[in-house]
Amino acid sequence: MLGLMQEHPLLVSSLIEHAVAAHPGAGIVSRTVEGPVHRCTWRDVHRRSKQAANALTALGVRPGDRVATLAWNGYRHMELYFGVSGMGAVLHTLNPRLFPEQLEYIVNHAEDSVLCFDLSFVPLVEKLAPQLESVRAFVLMTDRAHMPESSIPGLLCYEDLLAAQSDDYAWPDLDERAAASLCYTSGTTGKPKGVLYSHRSTVLHAFGACTVDSLAVSRDDTALLVVPMFHVNAWSMPYAAAMSGARLVLPGPALDGASVYALLRDEQVTLALGVPTVWLMLLQHVSAAGLEPATELALRRVVIGGAAAPRSMAEAFERDFGAFVVHAWGMTETSPVGTVCNLLPEHRALPLEQRLQVQAKQGRAVFGVRLKLTDDEGRALPHDGQAAGHLKIRGPWVARAYYRDEGGPILDDEGWFDTGDVATIDPDGYMHITDRSKDVIKSGGEWISSIAIENAAMGHPLVAEAAVIGIAHPKWQERPLLLLVVKPGQVLERESVLHYLDGRVAKWWLPDDVLFVRELPHTATGKLLKTALREQFRDYRFADA
Ligand code: ADP
Repeated sequence: MLGLMQEHPLLVSSLIEHAVAAHPGAGIVSRTVEGPVHRCTWRDVHRRSKQAANALTALGVRPGDRVATLAWNGYRHMELYFGVSGMGAVLHTLNPRLFPEQLEYIVNHAEDSVLCFDLSFVPLVEKLAPQLESVRAFVLMTDRAHMPESSIPGLLCYEDLLAAQSDDYAWPDLDERAAASLCYTSGTTGKPKGVLYSHRSTVLHAFGACTVDSLAVSRDDTALLVVPMFHVNAWSMPYAAAMSGARLVLPGPALDGASVYALLRDEQVTLALGVPTVWLMLLQHVSAAGLEPATELALRRVVIGGAAAPRSMAEAFERDFGAFVVHAWGMTETSPVGTVCNLLPEHRALPLEQRLQVQAKQGRAVFGVRLKLTDDEGRALPHDGQAAGHLKIRGPWVARAYYRDEGGPILDDEGWFDTGDVATIDPDGYMHITDRSKDVIKSGGEWISSIAIENAAMGHPLVAEAAVIGIAHPKWQERPLLLLVVKPGQVLERESVLHYLDGRVAKWWLPDDVLFVRELPHTATGKLLKTALREQFRDYRFADA
């Protein structure tokens, strides 16, 4: 027997319609590429996203066509988020930190029909344009006054396009399973692969992000999106803000510590989201400049994901900012929110030290997502907080295939997606990533967690950043090598690092050597690029090996 409830498709356009009906005056603050801070409301985003839909229709964009953006976090990007998906086209966010050859590959693979981009990327697009076979129109996201001389064929001005259009536009009634947006994995191994989100997955994921046990985004928040809108849809925040009415602060291109701090202070941000590397820059700025964030800022929560949040970072935010760190885990293939680390009632009374141990975990599955652990043979492992295994996931916002079936089938017979992460899950459901499966260090038949050693090393007051890789060893198969970047102007000895780690990680996990480097390589999404490190230290041998 079927239920008798109404069936309305879950569409991205319903989010912007809700925003304008429920919180039309809620604000969106953008630091622009052109310079000034721009302020608008959901009423403006609603109106202009409809003008954008009309303008793209006039450019020949049809439902299903891909419209690419190469843009920072800003209000025009927001308009395209809703305008492009709302009209039934597919918003394809490009990561400008990728190599030009990768961008060329991705645009051609996605067969993008229009490319909208910020002023910062004019030189990049000039270089790329001749190779972009499918792009019919290049749109510079600025006004007439800022239009440069450029070799880009038929370069169009976004503000001119919008000004020529009415805001009278009826969002089409789409199939909720239709594609809404497209984001490529950064392809640290192999070619980048496209993850194609549907309207349904996007809306369900936004519900998931807003729940109290997840990111708890609400009208009470002023949310700073340090996480870029080209990185897995800024973790759903544009959609979650439309749903909840959270005030948004969009930082544009300036993500250095001083600029982020200024926005936190000037806009009295309560919730900030980003990857660990940007928070490292912020914490360094605060300590170098001798600032007093706890008295100047209104920051209550910092969501950290994309890479493991070291415990020392959670401690610093708590101590210096009075802000609670919400650790979260996900991937492009999971939209991205999979697990979020909120506390259970029994954790609240714990001494700080023990509470931080809970916060170092990546958290519990958000409703909708299911997790399991398996051994190498695919047998299920217990959720006892001890057994580390391959982390598998399923749920309505998890990919079932890559765009154009790149890489073939990605689910097992029961519909689970292998995340490529190695994790434990404790009896309360807290998942703890111990490694990427390709980064795990196999020593004497056991696994050593490179992340655990990195986190411990990051707790050393003179360490700015740490990376651990496995180095071949004749007796143990592999042993850990610790690479450290020391804080500016500081000196650190190998022995004192090893002494510090002794007791903080298992004895047999102690690195066989410590090397000091000037900087560590990162991926386009801010993760340690361990493939590059393994390549760089390919011929390295421990003294006793
Ligand atoms: P990429 O395109 O580089 O794969 P993703 O954002 O999809 O970018 O990366 C997903 C991966 O990032 C996860 O599989 C996991 O290894 C890592 N990751 C994400 N969040 C965390 C976290 N909180 N702790 C540890 N690792 C994380």
